[in-house]
Amino acid sequence: MLLTVTTTHEPATDLGFLLHKHPDRVHHLDLAYGGADVFYPEATEARCTAALLLEVDPVALVRARGNRAAEAFSLGQYVNDRPYAASSLLAVALGRAFRTALQGRCDQRPELAATAIPLEIALPAVPCRGGAELAGRLFEPLGWAVTADPVPLDEQFPAWGDSPYLRLTLTGTLRIADALTHLYVLLPVLDGAKHYWVSADEVDKLLAAGGEWLAGHPERALIVRRYLAKRGELVRATLARLAEADDTEAEALDDAVPVSAEDSGDPAAEPDRQEPLRVLRRRAILHELRELGAAKVLDLGCGDGVLIADLLAEPSITAVTGVDVSARALAYAHRRLRIETLPERKRDRIQLFQGALTYLDERLAGYDAAVLMEVVEHVDPARLPALERAVFGAARPKSVLVTTPNAEYNARYEWLPAGQFRHPDHRFEWTRAEFAEWSARAADAHGYEVRITGVGPADPALGTPTQLAVFTR
Ligand code: SAH
Repeated sequence: MLLTVTTTHEPATDLGFLLHKHPDRVHHLDLAYGGADVFYPEATEARCTAALLLEVDPVALVRARGNRAAEAFSLGQYVNDRPYAASSLLAVALGRAFRTALQGRCDQRPELAATAIPLEIALPAVPCRGGAELAGRLFEPLGWAVTADPVPLDEQFPAWGDSPYLRLTLTGTLRIADALTHLYVLLPVLDGAKHYWVSADEVDKLLAAGGEWLAGHPERALIVRRYLAKRGELVRATLARLAEADDTEAEALDDAVPVSAEDSGDPAAEPDRQEPLRVLRRRAILHELRELGAAKVLDLGCGDGVLIADLLAEPSITAVTGVDVSARALAYAHRRLRIETLPERKRDRIQLFQGALTYLDERLAGYDAAVLMEVVEHVDPARLPALERAVFGAARPKSVLVTTPNAEYNARYEWLPAGQFRHPDHRFEWTRAEFAEWSARAADAHGYEVRITGVGPADPALGTPTQLAVFTR
């Protein structure tokens, strides 16, 4: 089975840098169920095509998945479409062959990796339960123009009709990392056949690869359901994590897993795309910081640094310090922000360090504002007073912004069993009354005033999904 990626962005041979595969060579990869080769049928300045050719060995495939003879039509294990159709096996091969490119990394051409370039992706035979129409629903919201032609069962006998396979061509102007993560996630979804390696860490892989675009995808429920082969409990937990959105849980991500570096595009430009809560949250925080005129900002519990990237884009913000207790989260932030490749002027505005917010820390003093975005609910209730002392009492920024889930709104999330939190690491989730009470008490104890607002679509009875408190001295 074959996948080709073509660009006309000149010099087109830079595709070799983006994919970390030299256009003059054939690159071979051994896989548990066969082998893959990457090569370039065409490599000129004007146009360059990389091909990934996957050879599936049906016998190795059966061995790799263990003996399932008892539960399956035994010959069907060996004689099937796997060697010929672009299925989830191709997605796995793609993940292996282009791992670094999937992560958005390219040391030799970092600006190019961050740039949307004209791309054409062709797949001659894609098994697609749901037909051409489904292919459109999956890829079009991501910015692709989709051509999906059914492949006839046999060209000599048109009366036999079409096979369940599509010849799929995607064209669009996208970053290479985005294009590859779209394929990595959506090929198994189109296929819909149960792939056998689904396990809990598949969820992390899915969220790491798709997190940035999946939360806003109109078909996200279908994508998650099919990707996880209908494993109910995993599907629910994953949808919860997507809705809870940027609790990216950097600590839980496997190092081997790709992270996409930035929000792709401006969601406002696509009116029918529902805006993810995490985007609305960051926008609300930026709005408040602007109103406050804050120049030096602390991002406490910064996680993988999504907010820091936004803060740096604000000319009025002159210094941003991200603090997190998790070294892993900080490593992700470092990578996301591409600190090494930033111009010096920008780099000088950022500082990242490890710290626990429940301990007094002199490094946190002297700031205009501190943001705690989706952090307090990760702290044990018994440790909250220590956090209050460290932030409001000792660091004493001129203002403090706190966001946290509104527990009442959980009733709107039909995928979330009653009484469960949005995220497994949450220690609590507050109702509006509970948050108001905590905020008033903390403000009072430390000489701040507080105003509470919400983020996200308001339900008349339940309020908004996210609560936001703005404390000012
Ligand atoms: N603010 C980020 C991350 C939220 S997830 C965002 O909204 O995207 C919560 C983060 O808080 C995690 O990265 C976790 O490591 C961090 N965290 C939890 N308890 C902490 C503590 N006591 N001190 C510092 N960071 C903490």
